[in-house]
Amino acid sequence: MFKMAPSIDYPTSLPVSVPLSHSIPQKQNTIDVSVVEIIEEDSDNGQSSDEGHFFSHQDVLDPLHAERARLRNHLGLPANEGAPIPEQPRIQPLFFIERVPDSRSITCSLPGCTKGALQPGELRLALNPGMVGDMWFRSSSDYYHVPCFERLADFTSPAYLDRIQPLTRNTFKLRGLKPSSVFDGSYLLPGGIERLILEWKVTRGKSIDKRDGVYDERMYKLDESVYELLYHAGSRRYRPVCRPGLLDQFEFYTLSKTLAPNECGSGNGHGEEWNLFEAFLEEGEGDGVHDLSAMLGRWQNAVALSWQDTMKPPSNDFSCEGEDQSVLHPTAVRAIRRLSVIPVPQVGFNRLSCYP
Ligand SMILES: [Zn+2]
Repeated sequence: MFKMAPSIDYPTSLPVSVPLSHSIPQKQNTIDVSVVEIIEEDSDNGQSSDEGHFFSHQDVLDPLHAERARLRNHLGLPANEGAPIPEQPRIQPLFFIERVPDSRSITCSLPGCTKGALQPGELRLALNPGMVGDMWFRSSSDYYHVPCFERLADFTSPAYLDRIQPLTRNTFKLRGLKPSSVFDGSYLLPGGIERLILEWKVTRGKSIDKRDGVYDERMYKLDESVYELLYHAGSRRYRPVCRPGLLDQFEFYTLSKTLAPNECGSGNGHGEEWNLFEAFLEEGEGDGVHDLSAMLGRWQNAVALSWQDTMKPPSNDFSCEGEDQSVLHPTAVRAIRRLSVIPVPQVGFNRLSCYP
């Protein structure tokens, strides 16, 4: 079966067509493998965890049962354990998290969805290519509310998890979008969401490996320069070792400054530091179904708060899980506002778009 490489990485340029590779030495130590699709050499592994989950007896009465089977077939996954592997898709379908562009609202593809149309500016999941359309190109997509798609996909399985891609300056070509469509920030995600989705993928991937008894810390080990950049940028302890290879100056700056996950507190240099992942990623396991949409919801609530009048007395709690969720610490406000920026593709000079 096919499997996607994990994507903690930040390639500077991505191929429009996706190359195939037969090996991936480590899970996240390189910065150019996020969109490389690989053929899993040992097919025993990838089919193990999710079969049965969708096709237990109780699913027979589930109105979404047929839709899940349709999605599995679209992804080239067998209908259930032991079933023959269907014909593999010409292009591996990916799940892009993106913003609805301003032009029009769109209907969610989940049968029976009651959430209404997807509105401009809202987050959505684009299944690309879509289940109906030309499978040779990425010109078609099916759109879902993220919680709706979570009812079809099983993100406790690598077969689904590895297909998640935040739509950013680095991935828009993979989605089949032209540069002219995204240069104003359309479709693209704010930096905070980009970092959260990628970190959520890594965290969830580790949990899956541990559950399946195949966890190997070495698979997740990063080069020191990459680790410093991705986890310590913005902190007082950030010590940029060097610019990681394959990152151009623009991307290095973006990750060091605009998308840094840490924010130093103000006040004589003694303020505490705020961390994006501590603030929004759940400790331990969530419900396993709606973890992604729940995290995105926490982020969006915090963004709204951060742009409200900040004359209220500050909370002492950096997290968004505190008792009073209506007030953010000034350090958190500063960080969330910074991470609300949408980095757009570089065209001669650096440009940033604002969100919301
Ligand atoms: Zn929906």
